[in-house]
Amino acid sequence: MARPDLLAALKQRPLLCDGAMGTQLIAAGLQPGQCGELWNIEQADIVESIHRRYRSAGCQLLTTNTFGATRPNLERHGLVPQLVQLNMSAVQNARLAAGSEGYVLADIGPFGGFLEPVGDATEADVLALFIEQAQALAQADAFIIETMSDPVEMALAIRAVRKVSSLPIIATYAFSKSPTVFRTMMGTPAADAITAAIDAGADVVGANCGTGLDLPDYVRLAGDLVAAARGTPVILQPNAGAPKHEGGKLIYDALPQQMAAIVPELCSAGLKIIGGCCGTTPDHLAAMAKAMS
Ligand SMILES: [Zn+2]
Repeated sequence: MARPDLLAALKQRPLLCDGAMGTQLIAAGLQPGQCGELWNIEQADIVESIHRRYRSAGCQLLTTNTFGATRPNLERHGLVPQLVQLNMSAVQNARLAAGSEGYVLADIGPFGGFLEPVGDATEADVLALFIEQAQALAQADAFIIETMSDPVEMALAIRAVRKVSSLPIIATYAFSKSPTVFRTMMGTPAADAITAAIDAGADVVGANCGTGLDLPDYVRLAGDLVAAARGTPVILQPNAGAPKHEGGKLIYDALPQQMAAIVPELCSAGLKIIGGCCGTTPDHLAAMAKAMS
């Protein structure tokens, strides 16, 4: 029997998404300043093996290595001519690891600039560059538009995907720590950002990453997101705890068992998809998978 469509599967039980890709690529030898997405072609076996480790850990949802594979991000590396191939290969690498039971999520990140009037990008430009990437990713099982801060950019990305695909769309923002309501970096309250994504056509909404959030913050955020989503399925992909400054870098060092310890609370808050962001590894996801089962 073929596995159900992702949205039908979420009605049956919560699913586990994967964790960070970038840190795994660096651990495998990616150099600072190198384009990690180029490895979808040049080191496809390594990218596939990272996906396989997450799949073996118990992750049903695998995210393509395409967070920075929009035109402006690839321009910085002189890789625009490879845009289509980088994105298509990324789906293939995740597909090989996902097998017949897993789902491939086509990852779309922020385009890297700001819309007018803060920046100089027009809505038409941004819509076009998201359409370009989404077309190349259309063989996935669903899209995940993540780490967004601007609800207008989010809405453009959702509209872009809808122009080229009828696959489910997952839409996640990065929120900042706050004693009251969580907000995006652009200052939008979480409830407004979530409503904007649902209004634009997202099928699943929520958050990934975040600025300065510790594990109890993520539990509180989960409750806020579920309330804001009013019945739309919610995803949360926390970092491995609050960031610590070490040698000019941010380190996320919550242990796998510490992340697993909040999973029951995240599930009872009503989340339908749980995963990981910065600092999470296949070991973290394996511990979280055990806590979900
Ligand atoms: Zn992150």
